[in-house]
Amino acid sequence: MAAHQEKKLAEERKHQNMQNGTKASQGQWGRAWEVDWFSLASILFLLMFAPLIVYYFIMSCAQYQCSLTDPLLDLLRGNKHLSDIWNRTPMLTYRAAGIYSLWVTFQVVLYMFIPDFCHKFLPGYVGGVQEGAVTPAGVVNKYEINGLQAWIITHVLWFANASFLHFFSPTIIFDNWIPLLWCANILGYAVSTFAMIKGYFFPTNAKDCKFTGNFFYDYMMGIEFNPRIGKWFDFKLFFNGRPGIVAWTLINLSFAAKQQELYGELTNSMILVNILQGIYVLDFFWNEAWYLKTIDICHDHFGWYLGWGDCVWLPYLYTLQGLYLVYHPVQLHTAHALGVLVLGLLGYYIFRATNHQKDLFRRTGGSCRIWGRKPEYIECSYTSVDGARYYSKLLTSGFWGWARHFNYTGDLIGSLAYCLACGFEHILPYFYIIYMTILLVHRCLRDEHRCSSKYGKDWKRYTAAVPYRLLPGIF
Ligand code: NDP
Repeated sequence: MAAHQEKKLAEERKHQNMQNGTKASQGQWGRAWEVDWFSLASILFLLMFAPLIVYYFIMSCAQYQCSLTDPLLDLLRGNKHLSDIWNRTPMLTYRAAGIYSLWVTFQVVLYMFIPDFCHKFLPGYVGGVQEGAVTPAGVVNKYEINGLQAWIITHVLWFANASFLHFFSPTIIFDNWIPLLWCANILGYAVSTFAMIKGYFFPTNAKDCKFTGNFFYDYMMGIEFNPRIGKWFDFKLFFNGRPGIVAWTLINLSFAAKQQELYGELTNSMILVNILQGIYVLDFFWNEAWYLKTIDICHDHFGWYLGWGDCVWLPYLYTLQGLYLVYHPVQLHTAHALGVLVLGLLGYYIFRATNHQKDLFRRTGGSCRIWGRKPEYIECSYTSVDGARYYSKLLTSGFWGWARHFNYTGDLIGSLAYCLACGFEHILPYFYIIYMTILLVHRCLRDEHRCSSKYGKDWKRYTAAVPYRLLPGIF
Protein backbone atom coordinates (compact mmCIF):
# COMPACT_ATOMS: atom_id res chain seq x y z
CA MET A 1 0.00 0.00 0.00
CA ALA A 2 2.70 2.44 1.06
CA ALA A 3 4.82 1.38 -1.89
CA HIS A 4 1.89 1.97 -4.24
CA GLN A 5 1.32 5.45 -2.82
CA GLU A 6 5.00 6.22 -3.13
CA LYS A 7 5.06 5.16 -6.76
CA LYS A 8 2.04 7.36 -7.43
CA LEU A 9 3.72 10.32 -5.75
CA ALA A 10 6.84 9.77 -7.82
CA GLU A 11 4.77 9.61 -11.01
CA GLU A 12 3.02 12.85 -10.06
CA ARG A 13 6.32 14.55 -9.37
CA LYS A 14 7.76 13.36 -12.68
CA HIS A 15 4.66 14.60 -14.45
CA GLN A 16 4.94 17.99 -12.75
CA ASN A 17 8.53 18.28 -13.89
CA MET A 18 7.55 17.42 -17.45
CA GLN A 19 4.87 20.10 -17.36
CA ASN A 20 7.53 22.55 -16.31
CA GLY A 21 9.31 21.59 -19.45
CA THR A 22 12.20 20.22 -17.46
CA LYS A 23 12.21 16.54 -18.30
CA ALA A 24 13.81 16.74 -21.68
CA SER A 25 16.77 18.73 -20.59
CA GLN A 26 17.09 17.39 -17.06
CA GLY A 27 17.32 13.87 -18.45
CA GLN A 28 20.47 14.85 -20.28
CA TRP A 29 22.77 15.04 -17.27
CA GLY A 30 22.81 14.56 -13.52
CA ARG A 31 21.62 11.40 -11.76
CA ALA A 32 19.63 8.73 -13.62
CA TRP A 33 15.85 8.96 -14.01
CA GLU A 34 15.40 5.25 -14.52
CA VAL A 35 16.98 2.32 -12.74
CA ASP A 36 18.50 -0.58 -14.62
CA TRP A 37 18.55 -4.01 -12.95
CA PHE A 38 22.34 -3.96 -12.43
CA SER A 39 22.24 -0.65 -10.52
CA LEU A 40 19.32 -1.91 -8.47
CA ALA A 41 21.08 -5.17 -7.64
CA SER A 42 24.26 -3.29 -6.63
CA ILE A 43 22.27 -0.93 -4.46
CA LEU A 44 20.42 -3.72 -2.70
CA PHE A 45 23.72 -5.50 -2.16
CA LEU A 46 25.30 -2.39 -0.63
CA LEU A 47 22.29 -1.57 1.53
CA MET A 48 22.34 -5.08 2.95
CA PHE A 49 26.05 -5.74 3.18
CA ALA A 50 27.90 -2.43 3.64
CA PRO A 51 26.95 -2.15 7.35
CA LEU A 52 27.92 -5.82 7.82
CA ILE A 53 31.26 -5.26 6.09
CA VAL A 54 32.07 -2.39 8.46
CA TYR A 55 31.05 -4.48 11.47
CA TYR A 56 33.05 -7.47 10.22
CA PHE A 57 36.27 -5.45 9.84
CA ILE A 58 36.00 -3.76 13.21
CA MET A 59 34.97 -6.96 14.97
CA SER A 60 37.88 -8.84 13.32
CA CYS A 61 40.29 -6.41 14.91
CA ALA A 62 38.60 -6.42 18.31
CA GLN A 63 38.18 -10.19 18.55
CA TYR A 64 40.66 -11.74 16.07
CA GLN A 65 43.68 -9.40 16.03
CA CYS A 66 42.61 -8.04 12.62
CA SER A 67 42.55 -11.43 10.88
CA LEU A 68 39.82 -11.42 8.24
CA THR A 69 39.88 -15.16 7.74
CA ASP A 70 39.86 -16.45 11.34
CA PRO A 71 36.27 -15.40 12.15
CA LEU A 72 35.03 -17.16 9.01
CA LEU A 73 37.10 -20.26 9.68
CA ASP A 74 35.85 -20.36 13.26
CA LEU A 75 32.27 -20.19 12.04
CA LEU A 76 32.73 -22.71 9.24
CA ARG A 77 34.48 -25.23 11.49
CA GLY A 78 31.76 -24.81 14.10
CA ASN A 79 34.21 -23.56 16.75
CA LYS A 80 32.03 -20.49 17.18
CA HIS A 81 28.45 -19.50 16.48
CA LEU A 82 27.38 -16.09 15.25
CA SER A 83 25.86 -15.55 18.68
CA ASP A 84 29.29 -16.09 20.33
CA ILE A 85 30.78 -13.30 18.23
CA TRP A 86 27.80 -11.06 18.75
CA ASN A 87 27.77 -11.64 22.52
CA ARG A 88 31.38 -10.49 22.74
CA THR A 89 30.58 -7.29 20.83
CA PRO A 90 30.24 -4.19 23.02
CA MET A 91 26.78 -2.66 22.82
CA LEU A 92 25.70 0.97 22.67
CA THR A 93 26.53 2.75 25.92
CA TYR A 94 25.32 6.03 27.43
CA ARG A 95 28.93 7.18 27.50
CA ALA A 96 29.40 6.62 23.76
CA ALA A 97 26.04 8.25 23.00
CA GLY A 98 27.11 11.26 25.09
CA ILE A 99 30.52 11.53 23.42
CA TYR A 100 29.02 11.20 19.96
CA SER A 101 26.20 13.71 20.54
CA LEU A 102 28.67 16.21 21.94
CA TRP A 103 31.00 15.65 19.00
CA VAL A 104 28.34 16.17 16.32
CA THR A 105 26.83 19.15 18.17
CA PHE A 106 30.26 20.74 18.47
CA GLN A 107 30.87 20.32 14.74
CA VAL A 108 27.44 21.80 13.94
CA VAL A 109 28.26 24.81 16.12
CA LEU A 110 31.64 25.31 14.43
CA TYR A 111 30.01 24.94 11.01
CA MET A 112 27.00 27.17 11.57
CA PHE A 113 27.99 29.83 14.05
CA ILE A 114 31.64 30.71 13.50
CA PRO A 115 32.13 32.49 10.18
CA ASP A 116 35.50 31.85 8.61
CA PHE A 117 38.36 33.99 9.83
CA CYS A 118 41.23 31.90 8.39
CA HIS A 119 40.99 33.53 4.94
CA LYS A 120 41.65 36.89 6.60
CA PHE A 121 45.18 36.00 7.64
CA LEU A 122 46.25 32.87 5.73
CA PRO A 123 47.70 33.91 2.35
CA GLY A 124 46.37 31.82 -0.52
CA TYR A 125 43.57 30.22 1.49
CA VAL A 126 40.07 30.59 0.01
CA GLY A 127 37.40 30.64 2.74
CA GLY A 128 34.25 32.52 3.71
CA VAL A 129 31.24 32.66 1.43
CA GLN A 130 31.88 30.88 -1.88
CA GLU A 131 29.71 29.78 -4.78
CA GLY A 132 29.18 26.19 -5.89
CA ALA A 133 28.76 25.02 -9.50
CA VAL A 134 25.60 25.45 -11.57
CA THR A 135 23.13 22.66 -10.68
CA PRO A 136 21.11 20.87 -13.40
CA ALA A 137 18.24 23.25 -12.58
CA GLY A 138 20.53 26.23 -13.09
CA VAL A 139 20.87 27.15 -9.39
CA VAL A 140 24.15 28.45 -7.96
CA ASN A 141 24.33 27.82 -4.19
CA LYS A 142 26.40 29.82 -1.76
CA TYR A 143 28.44 28.04 0.94
CA GLU A 144 30.21 29.25 4.08
CA ILE A 145 33.65 27.66 3.77
CA ASN A 146 35.01 27.35 7.30
CA GLY A 147 36.21 23.74 7.45
CA LEU A 148 39.88 24.58 7.96
CA GLN A 149 38.95 26.70 10.94
CA ALA A 150 36.77 23.90 12.37
CA TRP A 151 39.64 21.43 11.90
CA ILE A 152 42.17 23.76 13.57
CA ILE A 153 39.94 24.60 16.55
CA THR A 154 39.08 20.92 17.07
CA HIS A 155 42.72 19.84 16.94
CA VAL A 156 43.98 22.67 19.14
CA LEU A 157 41.43 21.61 21.76
CA TRP A 158 42.44 17.97 21.33
CA PHE A 159 46.13 18.74 21.90
CA ALA A 160 45.32 21.12 24.76
CA ASN A 161 43.39 18.34 26.43
CA ALA A 162 46.09 15.74 25.79
CA SER A 163 48.88 18.03 27.03
CA PHE A 164 47.52 19.83 30.07
CA LEU A 165 43.73 19.92 30.47
CA HIS A 166 43.31 16.13 30.82
CA PHE A 167 39.50 16.19 30.75
CA PHE A 168 39.55 12.85 28.92
CA SER A 169 42.12 10.34 27.76
CA PRO A 170 43.31 10.70 24.14
CA THR A 171 42.55 6.99 23.79
CA ILE A 172 38.85 7.81 24.26
CA ILE A 173 37.97 7.13 20.61
CA PHE A 174 39.74 3.76 20.51
CA ASP A 175 38.31 2.78 23.90
CA ASN A 176 34.73 3.40 22.70
CA TRP A 177 35.26 2.36 19.09
CA ILE A 178 32.44 -0.19 18.77
CA PRO A 179 29.83 1.64 20.91
CA LEU A 180 30.60 4.73 18.79
CA LEU A 181 29.98 2.61 15.68
CA TRP A 182 26.36 2.14 16.76
CA CYS A 183 26.00 5.89 17.32
CA ALA A 184 27.45 6.65 13.89
CA ASN A 185 25.01 4.16 12.35
CA ILE A 186 22.06 5.76 14.10
CA LEU A 187 23.06 9.17 12.77
CA GLY A 188 23.80 7.78 9.29
CA TYR A 189 20.41 6.11 8.97
CA ALA A 190 18.56 9.01 10.59
CA VAL A 191 20.04 11.62 8.27
CA SER A 192 19.49 9.49 5.13
CA THR A 193 15.88 8.78 6.10
CA PHE A 194 15.27 12.41 6.94
CA ALA A 195 16.77 13.47 3.60
CA MET A 196 14.42 11.12 1.76
CA ILE A 197 11.32 12.40 3.58
CA LYS A 198 12.48 15.95 3.05
CA GLY A 199 12.92 15.29 -0.67
CA TYR A 200 9.25 14.29 -0.91
CA PHE A 201 7.64 16.83 1.35
CA PHE A 202 9.77 19.93 1.74
CA PRO A 203 12.68 19.97 -0.70
CA THR A 204 15.04 22.91 -0.72
CA ASN A 205 14.88 23.13 -4.50
CA ALA A 206 12.15 21.01 -6.10
CA LYS A 207 13.56 21.36 -9.60
CA ASP A 208 16.81 19.72 -8.55
CA CYS A 209 15.04 16.65 -7.09
CA LYS A 210 15.05 13.35 -8.91
CA PHE A 211 12.54 10.54 -8.40
CA THR A 212 12.95 7.17 -10.05
CA GLY A 213 9.91 5.68 -8.31
CA ASN A 214 12.17 2.95 -6.96
CA PHE A 215 12.30 3.28 -3.19
CA PHE A 216 15.68 1.60 -2.74
CA TYR A 217 17.38 3.54 -5.50
CA ASP A 218 16.02 6.86 -4.28
CA TYR A 219 16.96 6.05 -0.69
CA MET A 220 20.48 5.08 -1.66
CA MET A 221 21.32 7.69 -4.30
CA GLY A 222 19.18 10.48 -2.86
CA ILE A 223 16.35 12.60 -4.13
CA GLU A 224 17.44 16.10 -3.28
CA PHE A 225 20.50 17.53 -4.91
CA ASN A 226 21.45 20.08 -2.28
CA PRO A 227 19.24 19.58 0.78
CA ARG A 228 19.53 22.40 3.27
CA ILE A 229 18.00 23.47 6.55
CA GLY A 230 17.65 27.21 6.55
CA LYS A 231 19.95 29.20 4.34
CA TRP A 232 23.31 27.75 5.35
CA PHE A 233 23.08 24.22 6.78
CA ASP A 234 24.05 22.28 3.70
CA PHE A 235 23.80 18.52 4.25
CA LYS A 236 26.41 17.57 1.67
CA LEU A 237 29.08 20.01 2.77
CA PHE A 238 28.52 19.29 6.46
CA PHE A 239 28.30 15.51 6.42
CA ASN A 240 31.02 15.05 3.83
CA GLY A 241 33.60 17.14 5.63
CA ARG A 242 32.53 17.13 9.24
CA PRO A 243 32.05 15.13 11.35
CA GLY A 244 33.74 12.38 9.26
CA ILE A 245 36.86 13.99 7.81
CA VAL A 246 37.61 16.20 10.85
CA ALA A 247 37.32 13.01 12.88
CA TRP A 248 39.71 11.08 10.60
CA THR A 249 42.86 12.73 12.00
CA LEU A 250 41.53 12.62 15.58
CA ILE A 251 40.80 8.93 15.22
CA ASN A 252 44.36 8.33 14.00
CA LEU A 253 45.72 10.35 16.92
CA SER A 254 43.64 8.31 19.32
CA PHE A 255 45.00 5.09 17.80
CA ALA A 256 48.53 6.46 18.16
CA ALA A 257 47.84 7.30 21.82
CA LYS A 258 46.58 3.75 22.37
CA GLN A 259 49.69 2.27 20.78
CA GLN A 260 51.81 4.43 23.07
CA GLU A 261 49.77 3.36 26.10
CA LEU A 262 49.95 -0.37 25.25
CA TYR A 263 53.58 -0.66 24.15
CA GLY A 264 55.23 2.39 25.63
CA GLU A 265 56.35 3.66 22.21
CA LEU A 266 55.11 4.80 18.82
CA THR A 267 56.15 2.82 15.77
CA ASN A 268 57.40 4.55 12.63
CA SER A 269 54.50 2.99 10.69
CA MET A 270 51.96 4.65 13.00
CA ILE A 271 53.76 7.97 12.61
CA LEU A 272 53.79 7.56 8.81
CA VAL A 273 50.08 6.77 8.66
CA ASN A 274 49.31 9.77 10.86
CA ILE A 275 51.46 12.08 8.74
CA LEU A 276 50.37 10.92 5.29
CA GLN A 277 46.67 10.79 6.12
CA GLY A 278 47.03 14.06 8.04
CA ILE A 279 48.36 15.74 4.88
CA TYR A 280 45.42 14.37 2.90
CA VAL A 281 42.88 15.63 5.45
CA LEU A 282 44.51 19.02 5.82
CA ASP A 283 44.63 19.32 2.03
CA PHE A 284 40.91 18.64 1.93
CA PHE A 285 40.15 21.52 4.28
CA TRP A 286 42.71 23.88 2.77
CA ASN A 287 40.95 23.28 -0.55
CA GLU A 288 37.39 23.08 0.74
CA ALA A 289 36.28 25.77 -1.75
CA TRP A 290 37.68 23.62 -4.56
CA TYR A 291 35.76 20.70 -3.14
CA LEU A 292 32.53 22.55 -4.07
CA LYS A 293 33.43 21.75 -7.68
CA THR A 294 33.97 18.02 -7.19
CA ILE A 295 31.54 15.26 -8.13
CA ASP A 296 30.24 14.77 -4.56
CA ILE A 297 28.93 18.31 -4.42
CA CYS A 298 28.35 19.04 -8.11
CA HIS A 299 26.68 15.85 -9.25
CA ASP A 300 25.67 13.42 -6.48
CA HIS A 301 22.32 13.69 -4.79
CA PHE A 302 22.20 13.33 -1.03
CA GLY A 303 21.01 9.88 0.03
CA TRP A 304 22.23 6.95 2.08
CA TYR A 305 25.34 6.68 -0.11
CA LEU A 306 26.58 10.05 1.14
CA GLY A 307 24.70 10.29 4.46
CA TRP A 308 25.50 6.87 5.91
CA GLY A 309 28.77 6.68 3.97
CA ASP A 310 30.08 9.88 5.56
CA CYS A 311 28.96 8.96 9.07
CA VAL A 312 30.02 5.30 9.12
CA TRP A 313 31.98 4.04 6.12
CA LEU A 314 34.48 6.88 5.97
CA PRO A 315 35.52 7.20 9.65
CA TYR A 316 35.53 3.44 10.22
CA LEU A 317 37.12 2.07 7.06
CA TYR A 318 39.44 4.91 6.05
CA THR A 319 41.16 4.58 9.43
CA LEU A 320 41.78 0.81 9.32
CA GLN A 321 45.56 1.24 9.03
CA GLY A 322 45.78 3.08 12.34
CA LEU A 323 43.48 0.58 14.02
CA TYR A 324 45.53 -2.32 12.65
CA LEU A 325 48.73 -0.79 13.99
CA VAL A 326 47.28 -0.74 17.50
CA TYR A 327 46.97 -4.52 17.32
CA HIS A 328 50.16 -5.03 15.27
CA PRO A 329 52.75 -2.39 16.16
CA VAL A 330 54.87 -2.74 13.00
CA GLN A 331 58.33 -1.13 13.14
CA LEU A 332 59.49 -0.74 9.53
CA HIS A 333 63.09 -0.92 8.32
CA THR A 334 64.35 2.54 7.47
CA ALA A 335 64.41 1.81 3.71
CA HIS A 336 60.85 0.52 3.81
CA ALA A 337 59.67 3.53 5.82
CA LEU A 338 61.43 5.93 3.44
CA GLY A 339 59.92 4.12 0.43
CA VAL A 340 56.44 4.52 1.94
CA LEU A 341 57.06 8.19 2.68
CA VAL A 342 58.30 8.91 -0.87
CA LEU A 343 55.42 6.98 -2.45
CA GLY A 344 52.89 8.73 -0.23
CA LEU A 345 54.29 12.17 -1.01
CA LEU A 346 54.52 11.39 -4.74
CA GLY A 347 50.87 10.26 -4.77
CA TYR A 348 49.88 13.37 -2.88
CA TYR A 349 51.84 15.60 -5.27
CA ILE A 350 50.17 14.09 -8.35
CA PHE A 351 46.74 14.23 -6.69
CA ARG A 352 47.11 17.88 -5.66
CA ALA A 353 48.90 19.14 -8.78
CA THR A 354 46.33 17.53 -11.09
CA ASN A 355 43.40 18.91 -9.14
CA HIS A 356 45.10 22.29 -8.96
CA GLN A 357 45.65 22.41 -12.72
CA LYS A 358 41.96 21.86 -13.42
CA ASP A 359 40.89 24.30 -10.71
CA LEU A 360 43.25 27.02 -11.95
CA PHE A 361 42.20 26.45 -15.54
CA ARG A 362 38.49 26.60 -14.73
CA ARG A 363 38.79 29.57 -12.35
CA THR A 364 40.70 31.68 -14.84
CA GLY A 365 38.68 30.56 -17.84
CA GLY A 366 41.89 29.25 -19.41
CA SER A 367 43.92 32.47 -18.89
CA CYS A 368 46.71 30.76 -16.99
CA ARG A 369 49.86 28.75 -17.58
CA ILE A 370 50.14 25.00 -17.13
CA TRP A 371 53.68 23.69 -16.95
CA GLY A 372 54.86 27.06 -18.22
CA ARG A 373 52.67 27.09 -21.33
CA LYS A 374 49.30 28.40 -22.39
CA PRO A 375 46.85 25.55 -21.75
CA GLU A 376 45.25 23.58 -24.57
CA TYR A 377 41.60 22.65 -24.28
CA ILE A 378 38.42 21.53 -26.01
CA GLU A 379 35.53 24.00 -26.14
CA CYS A 380 32.22 22.44 -25.14
CA SER A 381 28.62 23.39 -24.36
CA TYR A 382 25.63 22.00 -22.42
CA THR A 383 22.03 22.88 -21.60
CA SER A 384 20.40 23.23 -18.16
CA VAL A 385 16.83 22.44 -17.15
CA ASP A 386 15.49 25.86 -18.12
CA GLY A 387 16.95 25.45 -21.60
CA ALA A 388 19.76 27.93 -20.97
CA ARG A 389 22.93 27.14 -22.89
CA TYR A 390 26.26 27.18 -21.03
CA TYR A 391 29.80 27.01 -22.38
CA SER A 392 32.70 25.22 -20.78
CA LYS A 393 36.22 24.00 -21.52
CA LEU A 394 37.95 20.66 -21.04
CA LEU A 395 41.65 20.93 -20.33
CA THR A 396 44.02 18.75 -22.35
CA SER A 397 47.36 20.12 -21.03
CA GLY A 398 49.52 19.12 -18.07
CA PHE A 399 48.45 15.97 -16.23
CA TRP A 400 45.07 16.31 -17.95
CA GLY A 401 46.81 15.57 -21.24
CA TRP A 402 48.29 12.35 -19.81
CA ALA A 403 45.00 10.81 -18.68
CA ARG A 404 41.41 11.90 -18.11
CA HIS A 405 41.54 11.20 -14.35
CA PHE A 406 45.18 11.45 -13.37
CA ASN A 407 44.05 12.99 -10.08
CA TYR A 408 42.56 9.58 -9.21
CA THR A 409 45.87 7.93 -10.12
CA GLY A 410 47.66 10.17 -7.60
CA ASP A 411 45.03 9.38 -4.99
CA LEU A 412 45.54 5.64 -5.59
CA ILE A 413 49.33 5.91 -5.28
CA GLY A 414 48.91 7.73 -1.95
CA SER A 415 46.37 5.16 -0.76
CA LEU A 416 48.76 2.33 -1.56
CA ALA A 417 51.43 4.03 0.56
CA TYR A 418 49.15 4.02 3.66
CA CYS A 419 48.61 0.30 3.22
CA LEU A 420 52.29 -0.52 2.63
CA ALA A 421 53.09 1.24 5.91
CA CYS A 422 51.40 -1.69 7.68
CA GLY A 423 53.76 -4.41 6.41
CA PHE A 424 52.64 -7.62 4.77
CA GLU A 425 51.31 -9.81 7.55
CA HIS A 426 47.58 -9.22 7.04
CA ILE A 427 45.21 -8.27 4.23
CA LEU A 428 43.00 -6.01 6.38
CA PRO A 429 45.05 -2.80 6.01
CA TYR A 430 45.05 -3.36 2.23
CA PHE A 431 41.31 -3.09 2.12
CA TYR A 432 41.70 0.65 1.56
CA ILE A 433 43.59 0.39 -1.72
CA ILE A 434 41.22 -2.34 -2.97
CA TYR A 435 38.22 -0.22 -2.07
CA MET A 436 39.69 3.01 -3.50
CA THR A 437 40.50 1.24 -6.77
CA ILE A 438 36.91 0.01 -7.08
CA LEU A 439 35.52 3.40 -6.01
CA LEU A 440 37.65 5.47 -8.35
CA VAL A 441 37.37 3.17 -11.38
CA HIS A 442 33.60 3.14 -10.90
CA ARG A 443 33.70 6.91 -10.45
CA CYS A 444 35.63 7.29 -13.72
CA LEU A 445 32.95 5.35 -15.55
CA ARG A 446 30.11 7.13 -13.78
CA ASP A 447 31.61 10.55 -14.40
CA GLU A 448 32.36 9.82 -18.03
CA HIS A 449 28.84 8.58 -18.61
CA ARG A 450 27.53 11.82 -17.12
CA CYS A 451 29.97 14.03 -19.02
CA SER A 452 29.18 12.23 -22.24
CA SER A 453 25.44 12.94 -21.70
CA LYS A 454 26.24 16.51 -20.72
CA TYR A 455 28.65 17.45 -23.50
CA GLY A 456 27.64 15.00 -26.28
CA LYS A 457 29.91 15.21 -29.32
CA ASP A 458 32.28 17.63 -27.54
CA TRP A 459 33.04 14.86 -25.05
CA LYS A 460 33.89 12.53 -27.94
CA ARG A 461 36.41 15.07 -29.24
CA TYR A 462 37.91 15.23 -25.76
CA THR A 463 38.26 11.45 -25.36
CA ALA A 464 39.86 11.30 -28.79
CA ALA A 465 42.41 13.92 -27.66
CA VAL A 466 43.03 12.20 -24.28
CA PRO A 467 42.36 8.49 -24.87
CA TYR A 468 43.36 7.03 -21.45
CA ARG A 469 41.53 7.23 -18.16
CA LEU A 470 43.99 6.46 -15.37
CA LEU A 471 47.24 5.07 -16.73
CA PRO A 472 48.64 6.42 -20.00
CA GLY A 473 49.02 3.60 -22.52
CA ILE A 474 47.22 1.04 -20.29
CA PHE A 475 43.74 2.08 -19.15
P1 NDP B 1 37.18 15.57 -10.64
O1 NDP B 1 37.70 16.62 -9.75
O2 NDP B 1 38.13 14.99 -11.64
O3 NDP B 1 35.90 16.16 -11.32
C1 NDP B 1 35.33 15.58 -12.45
C2 NDP B 1 34.62 16.69 -13.18
O4 NDP B 1 35.59 17.62 -13.65
C3 NDP B 1 33.88 16.22 -14.38
O5 NDP B 1 32.59 15.78 -14.03
C4 NDP B 1 33.83 17.47 -15.22
O6 NDP B 1 32.84 18.32 -14.64
C5 NDP B 1 35.17 18.13 -14.94
N1 NDP B 1 36.20 17.73 -15.87
C6 NDP B 1 36.49 16.48 -16.32
N2 NDP B 1 37.53 16.51 -17.16
C7 NDP B 1 37.93 17.80 -17.22
C8 NDP B 1 38.95 18.48 -17.94
N3 NDP B 1 39.78 17.83 -18.75
N4 NDP B 1 39.07 19.80 -17.79
C9 NDP B 1 38.25 20.49 -16.97
N5 NDP B 1 37.25 19.91 -16.28
C10 NDP B 1 37.09 18.58 -16.41
O7 NDP B 1 36.63 14.30 -9.86
P2 NDP B 1 36.07 14.06 -8.39
O8 NDP B 1 35.18 15.14 -8.00
O9 NDP B 1 35.52 12.67 -8.39
O10 NDP B 1 37.36 14.01 -7.49
C11 NDP B 1 38.06 15.09 -6.96
C12 NDP B 1 39.22 14.55 -6.16
O11 NDP B 1 38.73 13.93 -4.98
C13 NDP B 1 40.02 13.50 -6.91
O12 NDP B 1 41.39 13.77 -6.76
C14 NDP B 1 39.67 12.21 -6.24
O13 NDP B 1 40.79 11.35 -6.25
C15 NDP B 1 39.28 12.65 -4.84
N6 NDP B 1 38.29 11.76 -4.24
C16 NDP B 1 38.60 11.11 -3.09
C17 NDP B 1 37.69 10.27 -2.51
C18 NDP B 1 38.02 9.57 -1.25
O14 NDP B 1 37.13 8.89 -0.74
N7 NDP B 1 39.22 9.67 -0.72
C19 NDP B 1 36.36 10.05 -3.07
C20 NDP B 1 36.15 10.78 -4.28
C21 NDP B 1 37.07 11.61 -4.83
P3 NDP B 1 32.09 19.48 -15.43
O15 NDP B 1 30.69 19.03 -15.48
O16 NDP B 1 32.31 20.69 -14.57
O17 NDP B 1 32.74 19.62 -16.77
